[in-house]
Amino acid sequence: MKKNYDTCIQRPDHSQQKRIYLASPHMSEEGYEIAWVQEAFQTNWISPLGENVNEFEKQLALMVGSKAAAALSSGTAAIHMALKAAGVGKGDIVFCPTLTFSATANPIIYQQAVPVFIDSDKATWNMSPQALEEAFRKYPNVKAVLVVHLYGLCADMDAILEICQKYNVPVIEDAAESLGSLYKGMYTGAIGDYGVYSFNGNKIITASGGGMLVSDHEERIAKVKFWSAQSRDPARHYQHSELGYNYRLSNIMAGIGRGQLNVLEKRIEKKKYIFEFYKRELSRLKCIEFMPVNEWNEPNYWLSVMTLKGNACPLKVIEALEGEEIESRPVWKPLHLQPYFKAYDFIGSNVSESLFEQGICLPSDTKMSDTDLEKVVETIKNAVNGHAAV
Ligand SMILES: *Cc1c(COP(=O)(O)O)cnc(C)c1O
Repeated sequence: MKKNYDTCIQRPDHSQQKRIYLASPHMSEEGYEIAWVQEAFQTNWISPLGENVNEFEKQLALMVGSKAAAALSSGTAAIHMALKAAGVGKGDIVFCPTLTFSATANPIIYQQAVPVFIDSDKATWNMSPQALEEAFRKYPNVKAVLVVHLYGLCADMDAILEICQKYNVPVIEDAAESLGSLYKGMYTGAIGDYGVYSFNGNKIITASGGGMLVSDHEERIAKVKFWSAQSRDPARHYQHSELGYNYRLSNIMAGIGRGQLNVLEKRIEKKKYIFEFYKRELSRLKCIEFMPVNEWNEPNYWLSVMTLKGNACPLKVIEALEGEEIESRPVWKPLHLQPYFKAYDFIGSNVSESLFEQGICLPSDTKMSDTDLEKVVETIKNAVNGHAAV
């Protein structure tokens, strides 16, 4: 069948969307993304090399204040390469928060290393500095610390870095959910030794998939680019002295990502508006509390998350929302409770577990209208009705 390219190249039409999503791709009205993709077509740079890849790396590094960046096929690949760059190998211990997506910890296993899971801090929902201290006392020979900035909230980096520097252990930030979040004026992902971003479809900006590793260790980033392109030695014939990976980002996808960088600030603004809308309308209910936003923290509000206290049941609320074609989901199930990871050590108490039991991620899609937001609020109010103490 002959395709009509004139009808293929269109601006996005968001009016078709009926279901209310947690977070779905939001291309610019201006068409920045499609313009860079078209240019890649016209110049035939349909490969994991090209101007879009170079510019995407350069602009992101410049924005967050890192010296170098490597565009990779996913955030997971970027975490894998960060661990390898930090020297993590077989049998090495890596501290990792328990309250996160499994993609944070899987690359530790790819490297045949051993995760030790750390509990959350009530004040940040992220890695508890107290539990981290305790973990260092138990495993002083730890090789690296992976910190996550969950839902766009910042971990307490000063407290965490102080402990890690005392033991001289490198810090990797999983900033997959927190691109644009500021900790005391610094971009998350550019505070520790290595930082990872994700451009998966549900993240604050997307390249339909993809990731980025940033660092001030320029020679390590050069090495990551080498490993990610099959570790080809500089020889005319195919020669390999190291294990290789096929992890580079395609120039097509980098075009989407490059275009999306133009709208990051706009997306953060809307995400913040959504959070403040929910907070204003729902915090009057005694059983509802919202995620903590500390004064040193300027989050990107990737997802608005609330917790339910008392008898109010998160699953009932999630089901009530689903009945109205509204997507929501529980907070991440802690990794030390996952069947695959349960054999590994866990340091802490029950903070992450209670966040899992009480938390709900609310729809935070930047294409939502006020009418959509009101519908979510009304559905939640009705669902917790009876538990909503006056
Ligand atoms: C999305 C996500 C990842 C993985 O990123 P991908 O690009 O999907 O591989 C890693 N960690 C966290 C916390 C995430 O939310």
